Amino acid sequence: MFARAISLAFLIMLSACVAPQEPVPAPSSGVMEAARDAAASPVHWAQECKDWDVWEKRAPAFRIHGNTYHVGTCGITAIFIAGPSGHVLFDTGTANGSRQVLTNIRVLGFQPENIKAILTSHEHFDHVGGLWWVHQNTGAPIITSAQARGVIVSGAAHAQDPQAGMHPPMRPLPAQFVSTAPAGQPLNIAGLDFTPVETPGHTPGALSWQWESCEGSECVTIVYADSLSAVSRSDYRFSDHPDYVQAYRDGLARLATLKCDILLTPHPSASGMRDKLLTGDLASGMDCAEYAAHVEARLDTRIAEEANAS
Ligand SMILES: [Zn+2]
Repeated sequence: MFARAISLAFLIMLSACVAPQEPVPAPSSGVMEAARDAAASPVHWAQECKDWDVWEKRAPAFRIHGNTYHVGTCGITAIFIAGPSGHVLFDTGTANGSRQVLTNIRVLGFQPENIKAILTSHEHFDHVGGLWWVHQNTGAPIITSAQARGVIVSGAAHAQDPQAGMHPPMRPLPAQFVSTAPAGQPLNIAGLDFTPVETPGHTPGALSWQWESCEGSECVTIVYADSLSAVSRSDYRFSDHPDYVQAYRDGLARLATLKCDILLTPHPSASGMRDKLLTGDLASGMDCAEYAAHVEARLDTRIAEEANAS
């Protein structure tokens, strides 16, 4: 076990030394086994990510459940699902963070080149800023919402985004590689089913996703629920956009009713992931209904503050 730990540490050191523009070499099969052993325990992530809101801080990959792995940084989630005939990746993190995501996938012993699709939560640079890099290194197409597609192929924020104008533009993706998913309908990718759920609010094109993961005969439903926080630039008022707020609330209502054994969020801290890991049970703590209620309470507070300020 000690020798395996040394091999893994050596592999991670090697990966960290590779120049960012070069692909990371695939590990040998013995090292892959050691890496998967290590990945079986999420305790390592909890130890490395005590300051867990740092967006580009390197984090070890770990198995969430069955074929589903966390491959993001300490502060930004990326989820990798290993399918029978190819893989799926949710989000890439920032442009810099996406290099760590690809390294984490290789450290687990999987080939990023076998990713068949990249799915998205919401169209902000901290979650999809690395799409260009990951697409360049995998050839994988992107599947997103219609509103987010416009952002991803232009690099510019959506005009209705409460944070429009706050962030620098992202590197645009060629339009032919970015398609849209009809909300509410399961999408089959490489033998796996994923259901997109429209949850606009934090951005106009935000999606949450639901899928099933099995370990032998034990299956759980995982939901990757979007950030959904009512954050904006200083001159934006949610109360000036009643249709947008209604769509926001409708999305929260959809989220609250989802079957949701394990809740994951684009910022791990938003759903208390580290605390759940420390208890040893990712199905513990906040579920989708509690998360939606928490977010809606913050939206209500925000709208009340706007009324008081006017
Ligand atoms: Zn955001």
